[in-house]
Amino acid sequence: DFHDGEPDKLVKTHCCFCGVQCGIQLKVKYNKVIGFEPWDEFPVNQGKLCPKGVLRYMQNDHPDRLLSPLIRTEDGFRAAGWYESLNKTADSLKAIQDKHGKDAVAFLGGASMTNEKAYLNGKFARIALQTANIDYNGRLCMVSAGAANRMAFGVDRAANPWSDILLAKTIILTGTNLAECFPILTDYVWRARDNGAKIIVIDPRITPIGRTADLFLPVRPGRDSALANGILHVMIERGWTDEKFIAEHTHDFDKVRELVKKYTPEVTEKLSGVPAKNIIKAAEMWGPAETSMLLHARGIEHHTKGVENVLTYINLVLATGRIGKPGCGYGTITGQGNGQGGREHGQRCNQLPGGRDINKPEHRQFIADFWKIPEPELPKQGLTACEIIDAIERGEIKGLLSISINPLVSIPDSNRTRAALEKLEFFACIDFFLSETARYADVVLAGSLQEEDEGTVTTGEGRCVRLRNSVPPPVDARVDWWIIRELAKRLGKEKWFNYSKAEEIFDELAAASKGGPIDYSGMTYEKIENNMGIFWPCPAPEHPGTPRLFEGGKFHHPDGKAKFHAYEYRPPAEDVDVEYPIFFTTGRVVSQYLSGTQTRRIGALVDQYPEPLCEIHPLLATKLGIENRDMVKVSTRRGEITLPALVVQTIRPDTIFIPYHWAGKKAANQVTNRVLDPISKIPEFKVCACRLEKVAAP
Ligand code: SF4
Repeated sequence: DFHDGEPDKLVKTHCCFCGVQCGIQLKVKYNKVIGFEPWDEFPVNQGKLCPKGVLRYMQNDHPDRLLSPLIRTEDGFRAAGWYESLNKTADSLKAIQDKHGKDAVAFLGGASMTNEKAYLNGKFARIALQTANIDYNGRLCMVSAGAANRMAFGVDRAANPWSDILLAKTIILTGTNLAECFPILTDYVWRARDNGAKIIVIDPRITPIGRTADLFLPVRPGRDSALANGILHVMIERGWTDEKFIAEHTHDFDKVRELVKKYTPEVTEKLSGVPAKNIIKAAEMWGPAETSMLLHARGIEHHTKGVENVLTYINLVLATGRIGKPGCGYGTITGQGNGQGGREHGQRCNQLPGGRDINKPEHRQFIADFWKIPEPELPKQGLTACEIIDAIERGEIKGLLSISINPLVSIPDSNRTRAALEKLEFFACIDFFLSETARYADVVLAGSLQEEDEGTVTTGEGRCVRLRNSVPPPVDARVDWWIIRELAKRLGKEKWFNYSKAEEIFDELAAASKGGPIDYSGMTYEKIENNMGIFWPCPAPEHPGTPRLFEGGKFHHPDGKAKFHAYEYRPPAEDVDVEYPIFFTTGRVVSQYLSGTQTRRIGALVDQYPEPLCEIHPLLATKLGIENRDMVKVSTRRGEITLPALVVQTIRPDTIFIPYHWAGKKAANQVTNRVLDPISKIPEFKVCACRLEKVAAP
């Protein structure tokens, strides 16, 4: 058997199926990844892996792997050479821009890619395409948390290394299905519990981590900010706020104190669905704790008030002053493989390298000088990911280049996304499998998996780690930066993209970040490797990096103080009513990753959860005459989806849940609501209104 025998080499690298970025050693034989071994010394996971990490290598040699560029024909695709494919892509995009203007072409990137590619995407869009319309799939992930972090703290990063979780005496996990989406992080929470920590989990579903909580609060979908305000109300009443810290290190607590007066436990119970006694209990566990950590994820972020939700929870942290100290802090847990680094280096429409703001004149000038272009030539802020799809639908954007993003599965209201893709005059994508979105492309440029290129990624705790090239891209596939470089050449911008290896791109992004809010300028590949990762900010070669932010109560706003934000609860964009009386929410399962392009091709993962199921509480099921595994139809104002029922005790009786990793008729995003948070432009994946009925099996 080919997979038997000793490997030729073991390559120390990282699993990129979530932001934990577990260390792993890949076994390589005859230039194929044939298995893995634990990497016990890597400090974050110490050799442990979840099912996705264990089985990830099986995609590398998959028969669906794209082996050469493809060009659309009347009845499908034909294999093509690079010369023809690159020329066709560059010529077609240029023709659209010549006719309709630069912004008629958009660029969509992904946050599962390396830091180097995130930087390159932004630079390519702004210099080679000169379009304002570049954004990425983090817009569908955690941008609301990022915006809230910048508003509260002045910077967007988890405040603590994960090791601080072990020192916490109370941990709030809100809106995070931690055990399925960030499995190895669960180990930290359970070790903290072994050390005596109390765990509070807040979620409409009793997810696996919820089953092990000391206190579980089954919040009604879309009511998160009401609940956070209610907990703070009790804390203030009982005197569990750190007035000295508030006075010395923060602004605007008085506005919050005034606002939460009305969020009594009784009022909050009516809004949130959480019993008043448990709201008080949560305040009793959190308020006087000696040390504490608050962690959240998409459950509170995927809302039209995602930024507000996050800020109301940050208020709980700031009110106690428990941040910037061992065992005390806060973090958003990024779900994508490089969810942290993917959002740092300039592939967002409102951001330039180093986390700089595209709307700030001094930031624009710095990057224009760095890239040696006149500042007026640097495009302004363009559209966000969903807005780009909307603009394609309206016919305003006519050309698209995408890389490692599958909007047909991952953007809400997918029937509209499909219609938009069909309207494009020209669409090229860089990918390693023919994703559902790639099937609509005119040219598919066969790119690289993470195991096939060098680079770096940044963990959810802000630690930049090295990905190592284990095998070359197969046959005639190419590393992504080479493809971008060749396109740039054809667009007449060769001198800006003359890279010969990924390390040169890293050195450039590090230099571009110097003095910015996100500073990598003291990092090199060698330094990162020698230290098994470096936390940013790392502003100088001799700087060791910064595992814990805000020590001494120093925040990253110009005056060094953090900001409270007072937000009233407001209902979701679409609440339940007589016509659509049930809450609908989406999320993930442990065996799948994002839009499933990779994990739906790994048979052993598919076997664990072969198709999407609709979770329904027994009370609701009985009311509607539904039994386990009956086929049910879920209808919303966008469309409908028919799938088997999974009757479970672990969900609110007024709510149903479907995981979103599947495509076509199995896509949960056929029925979700494409409405956006006004600040971050994140869509409201986590709540809309639906109808449910039993239907005959097909
Ligand atoms: Fe680790 Fe996340 Fe990969 Fe699982 S998916 S092995 S937790 S990095």
